[in-house]
Amino acid sequence: MRSSPTTLPEGCSGAALAARLLARLRTYGGPPVSLMEVCGTHTVAVARMGLRRLLPTGVRLRSGPGCPVCVTPVEVFDEALALAAEPGVILATYGDALRVPGSVGSLADVRARGADVRVVYGAAEALALARREPRREVVLLGLGFETTAPGVAWAVLQARREGLSNFTVLSAHKALMPALHVLLRDPELAVAGLLCPGHASMVLGSRAYAPLAQTYRVPCAVAGFEPEEVLLGLGCLLDQIARGEARVDNAYPSAVPADGNPTALRVLGQVFELTDSRWRGLGALPGSGYEVAPEYGAYDARRRFLAGRTFPGQEPAGCACAGVLRGRVEPADCPLFGDRCTPHSPVGACMVSSEGACGAQYRFREV
Ligand code: SF4
Repeated sequence: MRSSPTTLPEGCSGAALAARLLARLRTYGGPPVSLMEVCGTHTVAVARMGLRRLLPTGVRLRSGPGCPVCVTPVEVFDEALALAAEPGVILATYGDALRVPGSVGSLADVRARGADVRVVYGAAEALALARREPRREVVLLGLGFETTAPGVAWAVLQARREGLSNFTVLSAHKALMPALHVLLRDPELAVAGLLCPGHASMVLGSRAYAPLAQTYRVPCAVAGFEPEEVLLGLGCLLDQIARGEARVDNAYPSAVPADGNPTALRVLGQVFELTDSRWRGLGALPGSGYEVAPEYGAYDARRRFLAGRTFPGQEPAGCACAGVLRGRVEPADCPLFGDRCTPHSPVGACMVSSEGACGAQYRFREV
């Protein structure tokens, strides 16, 4: 792996640099290609910039499955709804998950009917809630990739250290790499370059993408989320493509070490184990879900409260989120987009989440 051939000049940032990078991007003279941003935060940044309209002719940027709430299958929301309905339970969740439809309504719906559903900004807040409410069971709906999962793992370790027995996690955490393998093997998508997420890469490390670059001969670039950082990452991809190269460029070296965050990875591996897991849009992927390890079973809400129960996981009728998350369907091609499905009245998860491709396209009027 080589580091990026292009680095941010010292003291140079913001609009002027973005303009220069964009001008350089538009000189691309290589073959027509489809690139993919695999992170919901990049999806929003790209939509906010109106970048798709500015890309050189023949360069297409698709959204991938990087919005954590969006890839969480319906049955997990059904599990959360069932737990929220239990007497004595406080269901703690991130704001994005509140309005995602389960098979029969959302957490916001059951909250309106009296269930105790609380929005938290992180695992530490859910843990604090458990300390304050010792007679209640606090269940944290844990969502996200390697960005958020280590914080939840830390909370479990801290709960054990403190002897807190009323804190559990309903884990829907996902591992990023198995999904990327599936997408890069998809001949219909023919992804020619991956814009890799800055935040998950802080934990995973830029080197983690090297097997993808080597196995599929696909250029990868780790990028931050400011306009100039996104443009720098895309420039790295197009440079590689034009030269017929496939490696990992770290275009976010100020935040992403080559080997990631060893402490976060250790905590993650201590509390969770990788199991087969279902993704909205991608189906069941081997070794792609972080489940609470048996040793920490006392903190596993699924094991403690839902053992033996199954949930229907009924997708909303007509919703094309599965295709959107695979990069096969553009949000605006869903018949419900902007009509029956809007951020005010969302039908599918990709419209609810602040990082969803449908919501981003609608809010920033990319179509
Ligand atoms: Fe699903 Fe709405 Fe997006 Fe259609 S527009 S794919 S219904 S979230």
